[in-house]
Amino acid sequence: MIVNLILLGPPGAGKGTQAQRLVERLKLPQISTGDLLRAAVRDGTDLGRQAKEYMQRGELVPDSVVVLMLKKRMQADDCRTGCILDGFPRAVTQAEILEGVFSEQARSLNHVVSIEVPEEELVRRLTGRRSCPKCGAMFHVMFSPPEKEGVCDKCDGELITRADDNEETIRNRIAVYREQTEPLKKYYEEKGLLRPIDGTGTPKDIEEKIAKVIG
Ligand code: ADP
Ligand code: ADP
Ligand code: ZN
Repeated sequence: MIVNLILLGPPGAGKGTQAQRLVERLKLPQISTGDLLRAAVRDGTDLGRQAKEYMQRGELVPDSVVVLMLKKRMQADDCRTGCILDGFPRAVTQAEILEGVFSEQARSLNHVVSIEVPEEELVRRLTGRRSCPKCGAMFHVMFSPPEKEGVCDKCDGELITRADDNEETIRNRIAVYREQTEPLKKYYEEKGLLRPIDGTGTPKDIEEKIAKVIG
């Protein structure tokens, strides 16, 4: 089955967590623009240097930078049978660009899963988030703690707190989401592609709900 889907939702909604589960379930690659950007910043590439300050402030990185990365990643062989877009598009301008990329590559967009979580829960999730830079595994100090504090269960890597997971930047990212990203819900609803999901509950419950709406 060929499936291209978008995971939409505010920071902390669980897009990354659900994307990883869908990778297993659907055998499709996850494309996270956040991960691609963090790798570019870490490697000190040109694009990474352009992105760094925006990310630190919790603002959107300019389309020109993000789109270059996305296009390159989508051309890879493993995306031929589809992909799970996590964190892209984040603005109507990006959705319009994505339509062009999809038509160039003769792909069609099947579902836009919008994960809905109340703001106070988002802040709790993000302030407690810990991630493994080595293998990408995700933890939460209270909701899904690793067996050994500060150590990844999967690869023994050292867990980190992302630089942008501090309360001030979190509030700014949520405000940016409301202003620039949330209008995408109406955009995709009008195209008949929006699948809203209640994002509260266990990750497993939410995975089942997503599996149901995408068939
Ligand atoms: P996003 O990619 O949307 O920013 P993440 O998947 O990184 O969100 O999740 C943010 C934090 O919340 C992580 O620490 C993750 O372990 C935790 N989390 C994810 N899903 C749930 C859930 N259903 N209930 C409680 N915590 C969750
Ligand atoms: P979150 O877990 O908060 O949803 P991501 O890892 O998806 O965060 O993104 C982290 C940061 O990377 C964003 O705050 C933003 O600065 C940048 N970023 C990620 N995706 C995009 C995008 N599609 N457009 C612009 N900036 C992006
Ligand atoms: Zn790991």
